[in-house]
Amino acid sequence: MKPPLSSPAGQPLRVLHAAAEVFPLVKTGGLADVVAALPPALTRAGADVRLLLPGLPAIADAVRHQRTVCEIGPIFGAGRVALRCGQMPFSGMRAYVIDAPYLYRRDGSPYQDAAGREWPDNLQRFALLGWAAAHLAAGELDAAWTPDVMHAHDWHAASACAYMAAHPSTAAARVFTVHNLAFQGLFTNADFALLGLPSYFMASSGLEFHGRLSLMKAGLKFAHRVTTVSPTYAREIATQEFGFGLDGVVRGRGEELSGILNGVDSEVWNPARDPALTARFSADDLSGKAECKRALQAETGLAWQPNEPLFGVVSRLTSQKGLDLVLAVLPALLHHGAQLLVLGSGEPGLEAALREAEHANPGRVVTRIGYDEGLAHRLVAGADVIVVPSRFEPCGLTQMYGLRYGTLPLVRRVGGLADTVVDASEAGQGTGFVFDATTPAALEQAIVRALALYRQPQAWQALQRRAMEQDFSWDVAAASYLALYAQALAATRGAPVAR
Ligand code: ADP
Repeated sequence: MKPPLSSPAGQPLRVLHAAAEVFPLVKTGGLADVVAALPPALTRAGADVRLLLPGLPAIADAVRHQRTVCEIGPIFGAGRVALRCGQMPFSGMRAYVIDAPYLYRRDGSPYQDAAGREWPDNLQRFALLGWAAAHLAAGELDAAWTPDVMHAHDWHAASACAYMAAHPSTAAARVFTVHNLAFQGLFTNADFALLGLPSYFMASSGLEFHGRLSLMKAGLKFAHRVTTVSPTYAREIATQEFGFGLDGVVRGRGEELSGILNGVDSEVWNPARDPALTARFSADDLSGKAECKRALQAETGLAWQPNEPLFGVVSRLTSQKGLDLVLAVLPALLHHGAQLLVLGSGEPGLEAALREAEHANPGRVVTRIGYDEGLAHRLVAGADVIVVPSRFEPCGLTQMYGLRYGTLPLVRRVGGLADTVVDASEAGQGTGFVFDATTPAALEQAIVRALALYRQPQAWQALQRRAMEQDFSWDVAAASYLALYAQALAATRGAPVAR
């Protein structure tokens, strides 16, 4: 292993990760998986890493051995706010928890109430996360630990970069990762006053976005380095098609914005050791995979069809994920004898259409609405093909899980999907099936190719083995982040980043 990167003071590099989600405590998507896996990988590489998390009930109640490091007092209308420090369950990582019951202790998702409405005080809830990251980085909240690098994830933590830029004496480097540019943290112009930032931050060179306030822009504009979660998505968000109105801002960062591909946490996603499965398997011995398929069909009410392909989906059900295309090609899929199993939740219209598909095709289509970590593992293990037909996809984790489990991904050539899956037509390199156009016809063509290959067991197994041998290691990603931190630290000694 390479020697640890040192802080300017010569100690192991101190890195603070500020984020709203962390697996397995709070998870709405891939962000949580990244925040759980990247810090331990950086620790293995020699860095001194801590997390900063909002005190949502599932976090505040699970972080162990908490002690108060700072009584912050009333801020953002939250009444009593304190910063506590403890230890993450499972990984043992040190974690700061923002104890602000008035803002965080409530049922529902981190972002929405049980009825799916955004929490009306989301600006205050997430500005507090950024504010705390910035003040930790300034050495004002914990005299015993000040980070060299403050790494903020998604719009939820992005305001940290603006707060730090407002206090140029803060020496820490600012790194911001975009996990999905579609979610931008947009608020009304009038909310700006709640942030307590100098008024010049509410300009198009700052947080202003077409007359509104964008927290995403705080990260894009004021981080020393911006990353996103795959090289292809980094290029795509500089275009009008994928930029959600921010492509100009992205292009403005030039070489300071790059893509680092997510890894797969092999402690959590490993078919040889996965406790969620009825049988284990590996690239050398795939026999357990057939048992996983049998058990999955039995568990979900699919007919037992060992020799017909089972297509699986694990996904948020939103238009991003392209599942309307799957519904459009369902007749063709079924005509060829295949089955479909969908696990997900999201837009009511998609949920209803998928439920309807189940009713119309008993034993051949099953829709499980909801969030079920164990079923996600059993689906990825027991299916033959994992379908990810996204319109855009920053990185995508399910196709990587599919690769690890010999469940061949069938994906659209976009974002991280393009970076991780090689089409079967690439002799000696294929790991799945890739299509281009966002049309049912293009998806159907890829499905027909997959079905044809499925009927050639030797060729299918060769593809499975190659897929399972792909190495998407977090250690590789961590090395790239460490190199990036070095660049960001160098930038703190250079020109100001705001432009
Ligand atoms: P995104 O972050 O856009 O939702 P990713 O593919 O990056 O997409 O990550 C999604 C993560 O959430 C994966 O770990 C996937 O297994 C998980 N996931 C999505 N929907 C469900 C669900 N209904 N039940 C269990 N896990 C889910």
